[in-house]
Amino acid sequence: MDISNCILAFDLDDTLYSERAQYARQCLQHVARQLGVDAATEAAMISGRNPYDTLTQSGVSVSLDRFKEIYRSAELSPMQLRPDAALLLRTLREDYPQVPLYLITDGDSRRQRAKIAALGLADYFADPRIIISEEIGHDKHSPMPFVHAMARENRADGWVYVGDNIRKDFHYPNLLGWTTIMLADDGSNVHSQSVDVPADYRPQFTIKSLTEILCL
Ligand SMILES: [Mg+2]
Repeated sequence: MDISNCILAFDLDDTLYSERAQYARQCLQHVARQLGVDAATEAAMISGRNPYDTLTQSGVSVSLDRFKEIYRSAELSPMQLRPDAALLLRTLREDYPQVPLYLITDGDSRRQRAKIAALGLADYFADPRIIISEEIGHDKHSPMPFVHAMARENRADGWVYVGDNIRKDFHYPNLLGWTTIMLADDGSNVHSQSVDVPADYRPQFTIKSLTEILCL
């Protein structure tokens, strides 16, 4: 793969940073503060798979809707990119400044933009190349976010998508002729990659570190 002739598009959550370690942790700390949760329960919420169940089983009475509302209202402190993501993005900016970089992410505009700001990603992605599903009215279960990027760049070839979610990140890029690359789950991802999906949902490449993209 000749990087200098590519357009690289990245997923955000669990691709450029760890959603659980960086984002969910902050949101759960906020929930704990708002509801006056003890330290042991807070730690169990952060380390467990189902923080709402952990919370209610500890004796705190709160509806799931209210829990989600508090979770999503957390003001984000700065978050860290994965070290390999930071290295790759710096390398691309310095050694391949002509390569357009896209961010294509599903979610609501306010939360995704708060994450982008907390991660300092404006240093790498120009705003017109940030595509958020709520802002265009279509998520990655449709071809539209990818078609949107192709139309914006006025280019049909050389597209690469890097993501982690086997249920939606690679299907439409595969159908559109993109190169698809999955970052392997190190065990901490929100969405499991151990799911049975049709062949055209699978990535063409699987990598363990984002910097491998430079050598594919
Ligand atoms: Mg993801």
